[in-house]
Amino acid sequence: MWRRRPSWGCATRRALLAAALAAAVVVLYAAGGSPNGMPASLFFDDDAQAGLEDIPASNLTADHLLDGLLTTEFSYRSCRSRYEFAGYHKKSLHKPSPYLLAKLRNQEALQKRCGPGTAAHKKALRQLDSGEGVAHDDADCRYLVYINYRGLGNRMLAIASAFLYAVLTERVLLVDGGKEVADLFCEPFPGTTWLLPRAGWRSPLRRLVGYDGGSKESLGNMLQSGAVVVSADGNASWSSPQPPPYVYLHLAGGYGFHDKLFFCGAHQRLLRGVPWLLMRTDNYIVPGLFLMSPFRGELEAMFPEKDAAFYHLGRYLFHPTNAVWHAVTSYYRSTLAAADRRVGIQIRVFHKKQPPQRVLDQLLSCVRDEKLIPETIAGNDTLSHAIMVTSLSSWYYERIKGEYGGRVAGGVHQPSHEGRQRWEDTAHNMRALSEMYLLSMCDVLVTSGYSTFGYVAQVLAGLRPWVMARPPMWADDWTEGLDPQALPCQRAASIEPCFHSPSAYNCATGRDVDLDKVTPYIRRCVDVSCGIKLVNESSSQW
Ligand code: GDP
Repeated sequence: MWRRRPSWGCATRRALLAAALAAAVVVLYAAGGSPNGMPASLFFDDDAQAGLEDIPASNLTADHLLDGLLTTEFSYRSCRSRYEFAGYHKKSLHKPSPYLLAKLRNQEALQKRCGPGTAAHKKALRQLDSGEGVAHDDADCRYLVYINYRGLGNRMLAIASAFLYAVLTERVLLVDGGKEVADLFCEPFPGTTWLLPRAGWRSPLRRLVGYDGGSKESLGNMLQSGAVVVSADGNASWSSPQPPPYVYLHLAGGYGFHDKLFFCGAHQRLLRGVPWLLMRTDNYIVPGLFLMSPFRGELEAMFPEKDAAFYHLGRYLFHPTNAVWHAVTSYYRSTLAAADRRVGIQIRVFHKKQPPQRVLDQLLSCVRDEKLIPETIAGNDTLSHAIMVTSLSSWYYERIKGEYGGRVAGGVHQPSHEGRQRWEDTAHNMRALSEMYLLSMCDVLVTSGYSTFGYVAQVLAGLRPWVMARPPMWADDWTEGLDPQALPCQRAASIEPCFHSPSAYNCATGRDVDLDKVTPYIRRCVDVSCGIKLVNESSSQW
């Protein structure tokens, strides 16, 4: 485990002092001061209070900059996680390609040239609000709006997917989600904002929540309503003289056949001329982009290691705000840092009727079968282990602690137990984000199948987790669809997230294909039989 710290001046020593004080608070809480290991007081931005100096860009090393993924254009203290991330994670053997870096720098320039507040953005908004289609001029800016949807893990996968699609189609990415996004994440693009500004009353951007599969502006419905004409040779064009001012892309789980035609090259050419695209997805659609002929070459050049796509995208885009990072690093230092090996266990139960004891038995069998934690009390010559459990419930933590508490020198920890998932609750989401990052600082991961929360943690960690099978959510009886012979857990084929609902439709032949057989770097997921994921073509090196 590589845990080298950035080169610190006296400014940072003051920050360390503040962090040490905060760590003392955690120890107090961990010792029983609070039922919650991450009290609200831990989420504060000490840099904002202390008037600290910045670390100059010239002191930032290739490690701080994640081998060129990040630019030096941000101030260090405005978002400490950006340049401190590397110091809390394994040294990366997976470098971003020069082509990816060039694409990121181009995208940053585009975001700056066309972002909110620029003349180009004002012009594009005027045209959108006027409701009239406009002929596309290459000098104009085009936009992709990500519509806020579902839990944090889903949102992070969707934002990364939308970002990659924006890069491929030379669009500016704007992210819906209001102040909460700003409370969770720092800006990823220098000199501009990725936050979608509040729209005017008559703007199509005003009520994004209202768009769904039934919206007449969706690509799927436009394809059915005669707004698009398809010629005998398969070319698609708009039936109106100009492309529409905006199109809604409905790519949410359970989407229909016509919405899935988004994944066809002909429809991508059609969308190119549309100034505004509004995208709703809860999926990691990146493997689907790799399956599209217009994008495949670009993507293969950007990601020579296909199974490192989200690894680079996630590290580039997501930087927890100082308040979240303060909680993460304080908790890490006080509970996990001292152990030689950290085992992260993520328990997510989707089926309400599933007996907790069965989930626990499955987890304990997985840990035992795979020898993830020593079964005997550690002697002086063995590695010390710490276990961190994340779950909405404390029930599992209590029992895992009962089982392993006396055996692991580093103890068993649970940062929070929220009881249930909450919507539009920033403090709740800050804790969820902290726990994803804490899991990503572990050396071994056991995750719950189907959970995007676990996917984000595994990719940020760069670890192939042991994935526990889960019963299908739609089954009335929780045992339905479960293979009684199934292993308690299986090692994921790659660190990449699973695309839960891909399109199997081959646009050229008009037939469905077996997605497992199209290319050597796309395989079925161990946890979702109809899902696909990017894998390494040769032997896995993660
Ligand atoms: P998924 O539903 O497992 O795919 O993951 P999401 O992150 O999309 O949605 C689940 C949401 O429930 C999270 O975003 C959190 O708000 C909450 N949640 C689920 N598990 C945990 C957990 O272990 N810790 C915390 N703090 N929140 C959780």
